[in-house]
Amino acid sequence: MDSHVMNQLSYGLFVLTAKEGEKDNGCIINTAIQVTTSPNRVLIAVNKDNYTHDMIMKTKEFNLTILDESATFDTFKQFGFQSGRDTDKLAAISFSRAENGIVYLTKESNGYISGKVADMVDLGTHTAFIADVTGGEVLSENPSVTYSYYHANIKPARKQTEKTEKQEEKKGYICKICGYIYEGDTLPPDFVCPICKHGADDFEPL
Ligand code: FE
Repeated sequence: MDSHVMNQLSYGLFVLTAKEGEKDNGCIINTAIQVTTSPNRVLIAVNKDNYTHDMIMKTKEFNLTILDESATFDTFKQFGFQSGRDTDKLAAISFSRAENGIVYLTKESNGYISGKVADMVDLGTHTAFIADVTGGEVLSENPSVTYSYYHANIKPARKQTEKTEKQEEKKGYICKICGYIYEGDTLPPDFVCPICKHGADDFEPL
C-alpha cells in the first residue's frame, strides 16, 4: 500500500488539559472528534507517554481546547515539546477554569469542550477515551487550526532552518513536527529530536 495516503486524513490540533489534586497539566493532541450527538459524545486518542494521559486515567475528566489559526509555535512548544512531569506548562499561558475545575486556554483558541470519560479502549501506544460532553463554550470565530495548516503556516518554515547553498550539499534529515534539521548521512534509528522530542519516525530526508 501507499502509506502516504494516511497523510490525506485531516486533523485538528487541541490542548488537552486535566487536573489531579492541585496539579494542572496539558498536552497537544491531534485526534478529537464528536462521535454521537445523542448522547453528545466525543472521542479523543492520547499517547500513553503523556502525563496528561495518566491524569485522565485517574480522574476521568478533561477539557479540550480547540486551537485556532492564531495559535503560535510557542504554544505548541509549551504543551507539546516538554513534559508536565517536570514543568509547569501553564506558566505564562492565558487560561480560565471551566465548571469542572479544569483549565482551558483563553487565547489562540475558538472554544473548549469539557468531557467526562464514559469508556476507553487500549490501543497499545495510545488510549482512546470516549467521553460525555458536560460543558463547553465558543471563544472566538477564528477558523480551527488543522494539522496541515500547522505544517504550512505555524511550525518554523524550512527556509528559516535551511543553510547556505554550500551546506545544502550536505545530507540531512528534517523533523516533520518542528523543522529541526539533523545533519548527517544516516539518521540513527533511536534519534530523538532535541526540540520536540519526537523520534526518528518523524524525520524525512532533506
Ligand atoms: Fe522536532
